[in-house]
Amino acid sequence: MDNRTNLVGRTSAEITELIAPHVDRDFRGRQVAQWIIDRNASSFGEMTNLSLALRRDLDSYFSIEEPEVLQVIESSDGSSKFLFGLSDGVGVEGVSMREGAKATFCLSSQAGCAVGCTFCVTGAIGAGRNLRPGEIVSQYRAMLRHLDAEVERINIVFMGMGEPLLNTGNLGPALAVLSERVSLKRITVSTAGILPGVQWLAGLEKRPKLAVSLNAPDQDRRAHIMPIAHRYPLVDLMKALREFPLEHGRRITFEYVLIDGFNDAENDARATARLIRGIPAKVNVIPLNEDREHFPDLRRPAAAVVDRFAAGMRDVGLTVTVRWSKGEDVAAACGQLRQRQSTR
Ligand code: SF4
Repeated sequence: MDNRTNLVGRTSAEITELIAPHVDRDFRGRQVAQWIIDRNASSFGEMTNLSLALRRDLDSYFSIEEPEVLQVIESSDGSSKFLFGLSDGVGVEGVSMREGAKATFCLSSQAGCAVGCTFCVTGAIGAGRNLRPGEIVSQYRAMLRHLDAEVERINIVFMGMGEPLLNTGNLGPALAVLSERVSLKRITVSTAGILPGVQWLAGLEKRPKLAVSLNAPDQDRRAHIMPIAHRYPLVDLMKALREFPLEHGRRITFEYVLIDGFNDAENDARATARLIRGIPAKVNVIPLNEDREHFPDLRRPAAAVVDRFAAGMRDVGLTVTVRWSKGEDVAAACGQLRQRQSTR
């Protein structure tokens, strides 16, 4: 068993403090923190501005431990799907999406999900344990190493496996580390509408952006596909969102998974626009990522229906983006890759 203290998932200040008793000069701790946080080092051997003796000494007390990258599958559309193996053998996924000079890293916060949305493979897998800060931050580190060229901008979205606002105890420290490299303006936490979590986020001194998975304009249909809405009804969620503190220029993102014949009528577009009226918002319309094995009855609407739905919202002044799934050829819907791996 490795009894060393893992430095991954700790802020620069925490690393510096941990290192302090083992070095003769204060700045050594800051150097180690720079190597790990700024330069993404994965071993003490890389820290060439430290003496060999000090590197060996540090290696006996500390580790730079990250989950194993079990698989990376490249999609024809430029996205890369990662399967990580955690130390207890559990698998989690993440996706890196590259668009020109911009990359978006989609990270997981749990190794499964208890929320049980009926259109989501991770929901079908069921509950999984909370990821620790190091396990969350490591996904970012691995994706950064995998980029084949410098990118000008990295965005992080917590839209992978799990409900991040059911893991705030680990999400908070992970955000503290990630925000040393990526501005909180470029980090988005997406929730199915966990009210205590939304309130936790609202209470932070500095907070990332908020996205809410809405998916229907009324309580009944929302609860039908998102059972969590029984516990946190739409009316309460909307009240919390109206009160959510937004920094200048920020908006709440509403995600709307479009399902054929269920929530894709023009009336639904208008009703959704009415529901979010008054909230600085933008809407991401996401045509369903079909999975015949887990939800055989759910279909993606035709492209014309998707366009008509988005146009219905734009007509009343909403900012709408249609997000066709990336990496479908590599099972990019979260949970699909892990599920296929374990089925095999
Ligand atoms: S959509 Fe998100 S919250 Fe819902 S089951 Fe999937 S991972 Fe969980």
